[in-house]
Amino acid sequence: MSHPLDQNDPLAVKRQAFQVPDGVIYLDGNSLGVLPAHVPARLQQVVAQEWGNSLIRGWNDHGWFDLPAKVGNRIARLIGAEENTVVAADSTSINVFKVLAAALQLRPDRKIILSDNGNFPTDLYMAQGLRDLLDRGHELHVVSPDEVEANITDEIAVMMLTEVDYRTGRRYDMSALTEKAHASGALAFWDLAHSAGAFPVDLAGAKADFAVGCGYKYLNGGPGAPAFLYVAPKHQDQITPPLTGWMGHDAPFAFDLDYRPGTGIDRMRVGTPPILALSALDAALDVFDDVSMNDIRTKSLSLCELFLSEVEARCPNLELASPRDPNVRGSQISFRFKEGYALMQALIAKGVIGDFRAPDVVRFGFTPLYLSHADVMRAVDIMEEILRDRLWDSEEYKTRQKVT
Ligand SMILES: *Cc1c(COP(=O)(O)O)cnc(C)c1O
Repeated sequence: MSHPLDQNDPLAVKRQAFQVPDGVIYLDGNSLGVLPAHVPARLQQVVAQEWGNSLIRGWNDHGWFDLPAKVGNRIARLIGAEENTVVAADSTSINVFKVLAAALQLRPDRKIILSDNGNFPTDLYMAQGLRDLLDRGHELHVVSPDEVEANITDEIAVMMLTEVDYRTGRRYDMSALTEKAHASGALAFWDLAHSAGAFPVDLAGAKADFAVGCGYKYLNGGPGAPAFLYVAPKHQDQITPPLTGWMGHDAPFAFDLDYRPGTGIDRMRVGTPPILALSALDAALDVFDDVSMNDIRTKSLSLCELFLSEVEARCPNLELASPRDPNVRGSQISFRFKEGYALMQALIAKGVIGDFRAPDVVRFGFTPLYLSHADVMRAVDIMEEILRDRLWDSEEYKTRQKVT
């Protein structure tokens, strides 16, 4: 089935760059992006030739040592970051810890970390662990998203927020909140897990101090892909890394017995980078080389609007959980439904893959590089049928698996 809105889509050709399984409408690129079609061959080459033949020589001959910086710079372009401010490393959780610790040290007289209760729990967990480990009287203030602005005071050391709420898709005004934080002397630390690759981000323009994000969501780097972190140029030589591994040392191969931080963003590296995983992420980023993030945003808005209006018209038992205003939304639409888990299992059984977030949210991510308006219509057709015929109301769909 074709859809008129797909006629003049400049991104339509990109679908063939991805290996979307037959019979699947994939609305979960916000959790794990689809495999870009050329990645298996590239990985095969890295394994068989770079690893297999070059062995230890690969660190120099294939640029493995500088791969975290190279991939970082490719991601920087997508998130409006300056050259050499981003490094691909570790997981998002670990990067939250590294960045938050470094940020707190820049505000030694302040003790409060401000975050919100819509944040992804791991960010809050890492902050709690760091607070307890430091044992210097830090406090984590967790307020509701609409109370964040009013709670930015001159006691705040770091405002730590995720730009797009993983459950609802609500999006903060990064620029305005960063300005407010700075006016109170606080640092602004943004998690871009649901932003990077989903729409244009302007870290430099917003004057963000720090950021982190995932490699496996909209960047399509594969399950457990390395994450990234950003440090604004003015902070790079001021920060003290909390995890002082040899890869962040000023001269790793001098094998000094004492730690001395490297220059620039390199000091936020810790240990030996996972070259296979980084190579997959590096290759996956190729799909962004010739597309504009503005085109991605335009199509994302169009896909989301179509989905939202069709679902509201045809699936009246679902309650919108996302903001209606597209300007304050990322690239996902969520609905509340009491039997949301069973509904999502029934959808997945029919090839429409989204996900479920407790207690009652069904979540649909829209990735303009491999989705069409026709896909959206087909997904709504299937959901309408499942709800109308109560196909979700079956034991097989109600037994929860480990990963929802
Ligand atoms: C997905 C996500 C994470 C995931 O962290 P990992 O360390 O990769 O498991 C962290 N924070 C936010 C805001 C996320 O959305």
